[in-house]
Parts: sequence; C-alpha cells; structure tokens
Amino acid sequence: APEPEAPALSAPGRLTPVVTDLWDVEDSWTLAAYREHGGYEGLARAKTLSPDELVALVKDSGLRGRGGAGFPAGLKWSFLPPADGGPRYLVVNADESEPGTCKDIPTILSNPQALVEGIAITSRAIGCDHAFVYLRGEVPHVYRRLLHAVREATEAGLLDTGFGLDGDQPLRITAHAGAGAYICGEETALLDSLEGRRGHPRLKPPFPAVAGLYARPTVVNNVETIAQVPAILARGVQWYASMGTERSKGHGIFSLSGHVSRPGQFEAPFGITMRELIDLAGGIRPGHRLKFWVPGGSSTPIFGPEELDVPLDYESVAGAGSMLGTRALQVFDETVSVVRVVARWTEFYQHESCGKCTPCREGTYWMRQIMARLEQGRGLPGDVDKLEDIASNIAGRSFCALGDAAATPVLSGIARFRSEFEAGCTTPARELFPYAASALV
Ligand code: NAD
Ligand code: SF4
Repeated sequence: APEPEAPALSAPGRLTPVVTDLWDVEDSWTLAAYREHGGYEGLARAKTLSPDELVALVKDSGLRGRGGAGFPAGLKWSFLPPADGGPRYLVVNADESEPGTCKDIPTILSNPQALVEGIAITSRAIGCDHAFVYLRGEVPHVYRRLLHAVREATEAGLLDTGFGLDGDQPLRITAHAGAGAYICGEETALLDSLEGRRGHPRLKPPFPAVAGLYARPTVVNNVETIAQVPAILARGVQWYASMGTERSKGHGIFSLSGHVSRPGQFEAPFGITMRELIDLAGGIRPGHRLKFWVPGGSSTPIFGPEELDVPLDYESVAGAGSMLGTRALQVFDETVSVVRVVARWTEFYQHESCGKCTPCREGTYWMRQIMARLEQGRGLPGDVDKLEDIASNIAGRSFCALGDAAATPVLSGIARFRSEFEAGCTTPARELFPYAASALV
C-alpha cells in the first residue's frame, strides 16, 4: 500500500491537534462522529499490510511510548519472540496517576474510538486476538465510556476479523478497572493486578515483551501511544516524522496545570518550548511571575524560569537536567512554597509505596516526617542534610521507578531552593507563603 500524501495541518501556529482534534465536536465519543472525521481509515490500511510491515512502519515513524519513558514503540513490538502457537497479548496502560498527568483520561472520554482503532491496529501487528485496557477504578464514567466505545466498534463489525496469530480471528477487548493504586501503573505490577493478585512490581528482565500477562509475550503501551497509531497509518510515516525533532519525532499532548490563565491539554510537536506553551495557555495568571515548574509530573526534577526555552523533547530536557516524562507541566508562581509542594508530593509517594523494598518503604516514611516538620517551621538542625541523605539512599537503590520518583522532588527541590528548606527549620511555610497556605491545604 503506498504511503498516503501528507495532509496539511488544520490548526494555526504550533498546535497539531490529531488525538485532540475531535474534543470539541458534539458527541465526539461516538463511532459516528469518529468515522465522520476519517476514523477507521488507519485500520483499513493496516488490513492491507502484513504484521511485519506494520511493525516496520511504526518503527520508521519514530513513535515513542507516551507513558513517560519514551521507549520506541515499534522496537518494543519487535521484541516479541517468534510465534509458538500460544496467545500473545496487548495491554493498554490507562492507569494514569502521575501527579499532574491528565491526558489519557480526557482522551478516553472525548475520543475513545482512536484508542479502540489503535488497539485493533496494534493487535494486528503483534498477532493478538485478546487485548486488555487497565483503567483506574476511581473513574467509573471513563470506564463506561470505554465500554461503550468497544461495544460500538464490535457491533459495527470492525473487530470481526484480521487479528490473532493467523490474521483472521476476531478481536476481543476487555476493559478492566483497577482499585486505584499508583503502583499498578508500573507495567509489571499492572500485570499482577490484572491476573488477580496484589500489584507488586516484578523483576525485569524478563520484560513483558517476553513474559508478560499469564507469562505470555505481551506488549504494554500507554493510551496516548496507542491512540496515535491510527493517524500514523492514515496520514503516513512522512507526515508523522516531519514533526518534532531528530530523535523525538511527532507530536504529543502537553498538559499544563497550575498558575496559568488557561490550563489544559495542548497537542503540539516535540521541541515546542515551555515559553510557547505558557503563551498558548494565556500566560502566567495576571499580576504574578513564574517561580518554578516541572516538565513531566512530580517525578521529574524541578525547572525554573531559566529553562523556559529548553525544547521539550526527550533529549533536550534530559540534557538540561530533568525528564520529559508524561509532559505533565505543572506551573507554580511566586506565591507557592517549594517546601509545601514537595511535602505534598512526598506524602503521595509514601502513601503509594507498595512496601516491597526497604529503601522506598522506610525512606519515604522518614522523608514524609521531616518534610512535615520543615513545613511547620519545626525542623531540627541538620534536617535538610538528613533529608538529602535519605533521598540519595532511595534513588538508584529501590526496586522500581517509584523509589527514584519519590527522591527526585526532594533532591531537586533542595538543589534549587535550599534556603527555603533551611528556613523551614525556623518559619512555617504558611507564614512565608500565606496565599499557598489557603490555596493548597
Ligand atoms: P522503562 O524505561 O523501564 O521501560 C519502558 C518500557 O520499555 C517498558 O514497557 C519496558 O518493558 C520496555 N523495555 C525497556 N527495555 C526493554 C528491553 N530490553 N526489552 C523489552 N522491553 C523493554 O520505564 P518504566 O519503568 O516502564 O516507566 C517509567 C516512566 O513511567 C517514568 O519515566 C515516568 O515518567 C512514567 N510514569 C508515568 C505515570 C503515568 O501516570 N503515566 C506514572 C508514573 C510513572
Ligand atoms: Fe514498592 Fe517502592 Fe520498592 Fe517500587 S520502589 S517496589 S513502590 S517499595
């Protein structure tokens, strides 16, 4: 099948709405609305290609995983071992829970058919006839919308044939609501939970691609990754790869929250800067100035105004000392106490630590106690050094990424705003930042 001609982008300026294109359309979640806007053209093209051609196409597009780590999607698909006659699974990680991250749930609410079509194309590429979507249990309305979308696609016959190892089976999609544990967003804990056990991370390797759900080869991808696949098929690799930067190709959803005039999701090419995004979000709220921000949720090191012009792609953000993560861009103005924010994040990580390994289980508990003292202005001499020491002993010494994530805000907060942490030994954050005390408690 020849590559389609690249269509012109419909949005002005730097925005590239594709997954978000339908969000403002009436009844955007219905199959009818999706098809009216070109939906399922990607799957039609996928059915003219062999699984190997599909994997090669996604590899060529440069699509990288959108759950935070940015692992190349086509490469992950190609890691599945050769078929042995047994099942292979696709599991979509919809357990969005990184603080500040808010792109997957709006996608399922507003454009669930893009996810269903992406699941169908990916399942065809990897020879799967049973795919799962693991969703947070706290959002039953999102779960219902997903069930509705799967039902509509199934009843319309779109999933009837073209899947499985021999490429002519029907596709079954199971949506599963978890019980609301952050650790179940970690892919192997998610698989444990899906199998009916308590969600605990597994040792890697083996990676899920080799031994995942029920110990079978499994591709685990984030909602946004899968929802991008239909457009790549329908509009072509050239179109996709023409956006973004050399190594971070394409576009993604950047979610701005906090002290901007118009918080929300902005779908834009990789390489856009935070300065441009803040402009698109109407600027910092009137009368205030930017104090600090994080590029990819609470587990990514803090940036300041000096980093506003860093291109938001995986390599540039890493080069500047942070991580792009989930592109959950949280913005804080000068009224906010860094100590208070880091204390909230630390509470979150301590609460969500699964307890499997000692550095994270004990370390987050100790950090939470010290952060609470500092926030109340009752810190002890040496507390900031102790905090740094504990965080340094969690980072790199924990079983899964949650430990590193818990240490990151503490370490980067102290590195950038040490004097505020030191002040917490004598002055409560609420006295230093009275507005923050009322806004964030
Ligand atoms: P990772 O780098 O360990 O793995 C990324 C993916 O690539 C995984 O699917 C893994 O199985 C696969 N992979 C890596 N090497 C492989 C190999 N050799 N063979 C086969 N597959 C391989 O990262 P991770 O622990 O999965 O994710 C960490 C990220 O999750 C963080 O960067 C953070 O931003 C993000 N995160 C997101 C949320 C959210 O709500 N979306 C929540 C917490 C954390
Ligand atoms: Fe559990 Fe934390 Fe250890 Fe991860 S780092 S296994 S969340 S205790």
